[in-house]
Amino acid sequence: MKRKKNNLRQKKKNLNRQYNTLISHAWQNEIILRRCQQMELCLMQCESFASLTDVLLNDAPKKFELDQITLILLDPRYEIRRLLLASEIDYHKAFPNLFFQCKSQTVTSLFDAEKLPKLGTYQSDLHADYFQESQTIGKTIQSVAALPLVQEQRMLGCLLFGDSETDRFIPDSATDFLQHLGAVISICIDMALLRDRLKYNSLNDALTGINNRRFFEQRLPEEISRCKRAETPISCLFVDVDHFKHFNDTYGHATGDLILKQVASIIRRELRATDVVGRYGGEEFVILLPNTNHRQALDIAERIRKCIQKHRCQYEEHSLQVTVSIGIADFQKFADENKTLHEIGQALVAAADSALYKAKQAGRNRIAINSGYTCQYSETAV
Ligand code: GH3
Ligand code: MG
Ligand code: MG
Repeated sequence: MKRKKNNLRQKKKNLNRQYNTLISHAWQNEIILRRCQQMELCLMQCESFASLTDVLLNDAPKKFELDQITLILLDPRYEIRRLLLASEIDYHKAFPNLFFQCKSQTVTSLFDAEKLPKLGTYQSDLHADYFQESQTIGKTIQSVAALPLVQEQRMLGCLLFGDSETDRFIPDSATDFLQHLGAVISICIDMALLRDRLKYNSLNDALTGINNRRFFEQRLPEEISRCKRAETPISCLFVDVDHFKHFNDTYGHATGDLILKQVASIIRRELRATDVVGRYGGEEFVILLPNTNHRQALDIAERIRKCIQKHRCQYEEHSLQVTVSIGIADFQKFADENKTLHEIGQALVAAADSALYKAKQAGRNRIAINSGYTCQYSETAV
C-alpha cells in the first residue's frame, strides 16, 4: 500500500515536472512569437531596402539577443548595389554584415535540397566569411541558423543567425517560426527593392544612366534655397549637342544613342559629386553648380566643351567628332524676394537656355553667358 502511494507520488512529481517544462516552453514560444510579430511589423513598415537592412542587421540582433545576423543576397547584375549607391549609401560601412553573391550555388550550399531552415553548429568552411564582424569583437560564433530567402520560387539569398551559445540552434529542432519569418522577410525584401527600383527609374534616365528632368526639377528649388540661405552664387549650364540630328540621320539612331551616353558620361566625369546634372530632353543636358558664379562656371563649361570636342565616338570605320554648345546663367544675389524658389529656378534655367540659343546662333561649339540679365559672349569660341 505504502509502495503504491510512493509510486503515485513519484508519478505526480514527474507529471508536474513535465507540465512545468511544457509551460516554460510554451512561454518561451510565446515570447519568440511576439518578438517575431514585432519584427515583422517593423519590416513591413520599411520604406526602402536600406531601412529594412538596418532593422534586420542592426535592430533585430538586440531584439532577439543574438550575437550577429548576416544577410546574403544574390545580386549577379549588381543591381541592388547600384540602387544603394544611387541613394548615396556606403553599404560597406553602413552594413558590414550585408554580403552579395553572384552565384546561387554559394547560397544553396548552405542548405539541404528541400531548402528549409538549417540549424546546427558553426562550420568554418561554410560560415567563416560571414561572421568576421563578430569574431573581431571577441564573440566566437558557436551555433548558426540559416534561413533561405525564397520569393515566388526565386532564391533571393539567405539570412544567418549566429550565436556564441553552443545550444542556441540545435540540429533537427522545429523550424516553423523560422520558416514563417523567412517567408515574411523574403516578401519584405522583394517589396522594398521594388519600391527602390521604381523610385530609381522615376528619377533616372534609362539611356544615359544620369538623373532625369524630374530629378533636376526636384533638386532645383532645394539647391537655390541652400545658396540663398548661405548667400552664395549658383550657376546653371544648358548643354546641347550640335547638329545631333545629322548623326542620327547619317549613322542611325543606335549611333545617336551611343553619342548621348558618351556625352553624358563625360559631363558627369567633369563635375563634382555635389553638382546636379540631368538629361533635360533629347540631346540636351542641364547642370546646376551650387556655390559657383558665372566666371567659375565658365571654366567648368569650357572643360566640358573641350573634353567632348577631343573625344571620338567610334562607329564602324568612322571616328566621329561631336561638339556641344553651352549656355550659362547665374544668380549672385537673390534680390527678388517676391519670387518663389520654383520661380527663381525656372528663371535661372530659362536664362541659361536663352544663352544657349545665342551660342548656337553665334556658330555652335561655343559658350555664351547670361549673367545679370545682360547676355555676353565668352572668348572661348573656336
Ligand atoms: P542644333 O545644333 O541646332 O542643336 O541641331 P540638332 O540637330 O542637334 O537639333 P534638333 O533639335 O534638330 O535635333 C535633335 C534630334 O535629337 C531630334 C531627335 O530625333 C533626336 N533625339 C532625341 N532624343 C533622342 C534619343 O534618345 N536618341 C537618339 N538617337 N536621338 C534622339
Ligand atoms: Mg536641342
Ligand atoms: Mg542639338
